[in-house]
Amino acid sequence: MNEINQNNGKDSADAQEFIQTLTNTIKTLEKTISVLNKKLKDAENEIKTLREENRNLETKGVNASELIKDNEMYKMKIAELEREIKEYKRNQEPYEAEKAKSEKVTSVTKASDIVPKKPSEVIKEQVLGVSESTTATRRKCPNCGNANPASIHEKVDKTRIIMESPRMYGKKYICGECGIEWI
Ligand SMILES: [Zn+2]
Repeated sequence: MNEINQNNGKDSADAQEFIQTLTNTIKTLEKTISVLNKKLKDAENEIKTLREENRNLETKGVNASELIKDNEMYKMKIAELEREIKEYKRNQEPYEAEKAKSEKVTSVTKASDIVPKKPSEVIKEQVLGVSESTTATRRKCPNCGNANPASIHEKVDKTRIIMESPRMYGKKYICGECGIEWI
């Protein structure tokens, strides 16, 4: 009986020790678990951060591909515009030629305008010619020397416009002897 009791006592002591050990183990495990839980949380946070970074990178990647797309579009637009400019220039060429022609024509008409616009000189000549007619310089035929005022005829020379407005013509002389004309 006593032995049994002793045994029982020993057993209960063993049991108590065992329980203590188990409790300690549980405590240690709990600590480990809490440490692991913390690590897990850290890991989860890290995963979250990495996912976010990844998302950012993906967004950037999308942006980059969009930029590439934009770039391609701009390149195409530039090429299109260059084509349009070329076509415009090609279409412009006849106009440029026309313009150059019309400029030439204008300069020609201007040059021809100058001829009758020298008239002050011609008028002077004309006036002098009239006054000189008394000194017979113009009333003398340059061909045969005929200086007879009765056989030298004065006519309006419609081929020589001295003034446009009012329209004034030059004068010409015709020799009654040999028939030549001079101015
Ligand atoms: Zn004459």
